[in-house]
Amino acid sequence: MTAGVRLIIMGRQGAGKGTQCQRISRHYVVPHISTGEILRAAVREGTELGKMAKQVIEAGRLVGDDIMIEIIRERLEQDDARTRGYILDGFPRTVAQAIALDGIAAERPIHVVLDLDVPRDLVIQRISARRVCRDCGTNYVATAQKRDPWICDSCGGDVVQRNDDTPESISQRLDLYESQTSPLLKFNGQDGRLVEIDGSLSPDEVFATLTVAIDQARKNG
Ligand code: AMP
Repeated sequence: MTAGVRLIIMGRQGAGKGTQCQRISRHYVVPHISTGEILRAAVREGTELGKMAKQVIEAGRLVGDDIMIEIIRERLEQDDARTRGYILDGFPRTVAQAIALDGIAAERPIHVVLDLDVPRDLVIQRISARRVCRDCGTNYVATAQKRDPWICDSCGGDVVQRNDDTPESISQRLDLYESQTSPLLKFNGQDGRLVEIDGSLSPDEVFATLTVAIDQARKNG
């Protein structure tokens, strides 16, 4: 079996991708590549990409395919991704991105595409309670007990609600997921590399199911 793993994780916003990706990343020692995180880092740094991405993200729309494809092409060229593999989170998000990725990853193809399936009602509840570390992206769940200031357990950064986690933006992003990203499930299912995972279970149960699917895919690949 080759070292590392190359996988895509899909699922509606709030399906638990961020949480599971952190765990998968530690378990298999592979980089977690989240395009949302890359864009939010660019927003924080105030780069040209960040200025454009800020408007698009806050409007609940998608950044253009050409820009996203270039970002991923460059990221997957880096040593860690070449040697250890990667977890792609938030990419591809359109069929055009998926087709481009197949080209980029042609030499070292994706082992498995995991779809974390969680019903729309449940993800709306989860996103409303979601809080995230501004610096390292660790996810937290807000409870009735207020924590102000809220400091990240992992890195000491500020834990905040994402600007795009407003009810209007959530609803618009979920609509976009249905129209633009769900068709990818069909695209990715074509060659049998798609595995559906019930994401409504507890984080530990979901993680256990994910590792079984990943280990099986690595054995086959
Ligand atoms: P996420 O953290 O994955 O929910 O991404 C946050 C926002 O970043 C999305 O709502 C999009 O505006 C943008 N974004 C992230 N990944 C992509 C992508 N692959 N294609 C286009 N826009 C993206």
